[in-house]
Amino acid sequence: MTTLVVVERTPDGIYELSLQALAFARRYAADQPLHALVVGESDGLEGVLGEHGVSTVHVAEHDAFSSYAPAAVARAVLDIMSRTETSAVVAAGNERGNEVLAHVAAIADLPFAANCIEATADHPALVTRVRWGGSLLEEARLHGAPVLMTVQPHSVAPDAVAGESARVERFTPALHEADLVMCVRERVGAATGGVSLADAKVVVSCGRGAGSPEGFGIIEELAGLLGGAVGCSRAVTMAGWRPHTDQVGQTGTKIAPDIYIACGISGATQHMAGCKGAKAILAVNTDPEAPILASADYAVIGDLHEVVPAISAELRKVRG
Ligand SMILES: Cc1cc2nc3c(=O)[nH]c(=O)nc-3n(C[C@H](O)[C@H](O)[C@H](O)COP(=O)(O)OP(=O)(O)OC[C@H]3O[C@@H](n4cnc5c(N)ncnc54)[C@H](O)[C@@H]3O)c2cc1C
Repeated sequence: MTTLVVVERTPDGIYELSLQALAFARRYAADQPLHALVVGESDGLEGVLGEHGVSTVHVAEHDAFSSYAPAAVARAVLDIMSRTETSAVVAAGNERGNEVLAHVAAIADLPFAANCIEATADHPALVTRVRWGGSLLEEARLHGAPVLMTVQPHSVAPDAVAGESARVERFTPALHEADLVMCVRERVGAATGGVSLADAKVVVSCGRGAGSPEGFGIIEELAGLLGGAVGCSRAVTMAGWRPHTDQVGQTGTKIAPDIYIACGISGATQHMAGCKGAKAILAVNTDPEAPILASADYAVIGDLHEVVPAISAELRKVRG
């Protein structure tokens, strides 16, 4: 039996959440060979995949994989499942990983557990998964084989081993027209100043306390000084002040920066679901009773329109 991980690539390597999924899969079935699926091209990835415990990388080749096409990726997974005795299929618990495994589950009529933080290869498998934006941990038994799981982002650290380069097996899955109906046709870059919200070491975020879209000027300034990314709450995206790509939370991006500076954000559970991976939280809020203070490591009780420019001014002074 083998464990298969659906691996997403970045322009220059492997997506951090996929490395986390590989560590999770190795922990789940330490005694089984670990296989990976990469769609499109795999050039040079076999070395780094080997370092993360992968013995075989299946490279699915097809024109469809020049863009993201979730049902087509699911077909590639099913193709491997039909040829290899697969005990579990694991993917990152982001939108893409959850979407691909949902297609696999629907086509193969299998149960699927999203956002797992732990799993035991029992019969049936026992999983612990995050529900309700992080306010509930659910233990569940997964009846069905192979076991389909995605991994809650940042719940497991990537874990390299001294493995040899993975063996590469190329194949072309048989795709149906329906598998290609949904695919990415165009990408429009967000104006993030080059630092992606999901990967940023510093995130400066603002909520309704910004007061207006213009209120984000001082947030952008501080983020720029710290080499970080700008985030926001859903109240802000709902008001149309910032794009959804900036939203942190259950229905936004899950982040794990070294420091999260949350200004004028109350700290609703749905927001905290997206930033609980932060190593430290600094809250700036006028309300000493704001719920975010219960999770904050540092807090400034005050008006963000005064506090944030003061931090930026101090940074400039220190840097000369
Ligand atoms: C299904 C579902 C999914 C959701 N998903 C998300 C999600 O992904 N992300 C998310 O963020 N929310 C999400 N929400 C919404 C969430 O419940 C809250 O409504 C939202 O996070 C509130 O945003 P906020 O903190 O900016 O606004 P508010 O709750 O209005 O809080 C504003 C805060 O700013 C403070 N403040 C005001 N003025 C100032 C000032 N001048 N200086 C300093 N502080 C000030 C106030 O004291 C207050 O604490 C979701 C809700 C649902 C139902």
